[in-house]
Amino acid sequence: MDYYDVVVIGAGFSGLTAARELREAGKNVLVLEARDRIGGSTWYRPEALGGFGLEMGGTWIVPQQTHVWAEVQRYGVPVADSELPGRMTWSDHGTVLDTLLPVPPEQYGALEHAVRALVEAGERIDPTRPLSEQGLADLDVPIRQWAEDAGLTGNAKELIVSWFCGCANAGEETGSALDVIRWLSAMDNSLWGMVQASVLGYTFVDGTVSLAEAIRADGGTELRLSSPVREVTATDGGVTVGYDGGAVRADRVLMTTPVGVWRDIEFSPRLSTAKQMMSQENHAGQGQKVWALARNVDEDISGFGWGTGFDYVGAMATTDEGVVLVCFAPEHDRVDTTDPADVQRAVREFAPEAEVVGVESHDWVNDEFNKGTWATFGAGQFAKYEIAVGEPEGRVHFGGSHTARLWRAFIDGAIESGKRAAAEILAARSEGGEE
Ligand SMILES: Cc1cc2nc3c(=O)[nH]c(=O)nc-3n(C[C@H](O)[C@H](O)[C@H](O)COP(=O)(O)OP(=O)(O)OC[C@H]3O[C@@H](n4cnc5c(N)ncnc54)[C@H](O)[C@@H]3O)c2cc1C
Repeated sequence: MDYYDVVVIGAGFSGLTAARELREAGKNVLVLEARDRIGGSTWYRPEALGGFGLEMGGTWIVPQQTHVWAEVQRYGVPVADSELPGRMTWSDHGTVLDTLLPVPPEQYGALEHAVRALVEAGERIDPTRPLSEQGLADLDVPIRQWAEDAGLTGNAKELIVSWFCGCANAGEETGSALDVIRWLSAMDNSLWGMVQASVLGYTFVDGTVSLAEAIRADGGTELRLSSPVREVTATDGGVTVGYDGGAVRADRVLMTTPVGVWRDIEFSPRLSTAKQMMSQENHAGQGQKVWALARNVDEDISGFGWGTGFDYVGAMATTDEGVVLVCFAPEHDRVDTTDPADVQRAVREFAPEAEVVGVESHDWVNDEFNKGTWATFGAGQFAKYEIAVGEPEGRVHFGGSHTARLWRAFIDGAIESGKRAAAEILAARSEGGEE
């Protein structure tokens, strides 16, 4: 059986970064990846929309995300800033409001209160430290409950609930408000910064794969694609990893798969109770990201809606065939992405004349290697699992963006976690006298 210092499970940004760091430290590393491609929850499809090219998963980054930004600089990967929309569109249950602000003048006070409540909540958070250690349990509640507890009213409440659900890609009764408010604190409590971090940041000119590939090539790591891991068996002398196609042995293993996937892998000894429960419950990021090609739509539409199928519909580009829209919904069955007529119905809640002529989406929720979109914690999960998801269990270590501190559930967090996990493994190996 082949033997490695470290076997990394998963070739997303976390696994690829960890593998590169371990290789740079002179370790013999193998990456086992279930799919026939690298990138994991990021997936650039250059052929999509007749060659226009689409990001099916992770897309936007901002300079404040220092881990991913450093990698972009290191490899000179081209990125492009998003263009600002000419104006915002607001949809109240499918009725487009022809107003600059999302609320009528008599609710300006309520809007101001909402902004204050948000910033006050953000200012309580130190995003560099574990959130579960900061007395923030009153924020680790369902998104709608937080809005009500904070005294939000009127359209301002509905807009913020919907916006939070959009950021979380989670439902208003499931997603943790804390997991969204921490975005604000990570952007120095700038609401505008938070909008940029969601859909107005920088994109990768040649797709996210350009950075993933640069990290992989630099690492020079051995990679086996189409090799889903089924068993991880640790003994005193090492760990045996069984995958479709064979088995390998390693001194240490790094797991970087999404949490929902753990339950399909046979671990011996069994994972800690907290990890098993987290995997069963899964995270709350269970929504939709949908690309639509539409005619009769403003070419700079940027719309937030409440009481609508999508919570966000925004133009990303204009082609000869129409406007390329990116749309998000907080639950995976809100919009039937296999039916262009249903997508058109949902887009028309923002652009009533829209004619949808193309749809592209990937069902991350029912994808056995993701079981969700991005790893927003459910309400109450910080207290129970924030620390546990990243804790090593003997020779098995845990990375993945869900284990990151500052930009958990982002590409940046995946890279942060890969570096942290690699350092942890190197320290453990030297402490154990294995060098
Ligand atoms: C729709 C969507 C939109 C997003 N938008 C953004 C955004 O705009 N900006 C941003 O920063 N982030 C965004 N994210 C989040 C970001 O993409 C992720 O946080 C990040 O890519 C996760 O990286 P990772 O390496 O931790 O995990 P992953 O990328 O999920 O990598 C884990 C890898 O493990 C593999 N794997 C799973 N099971 C097994 C197994 N049994 N054996 C072997 N391999 C296995 C998977 O195939 C995968 O390649 C988005 C995610 C999604 C899905």
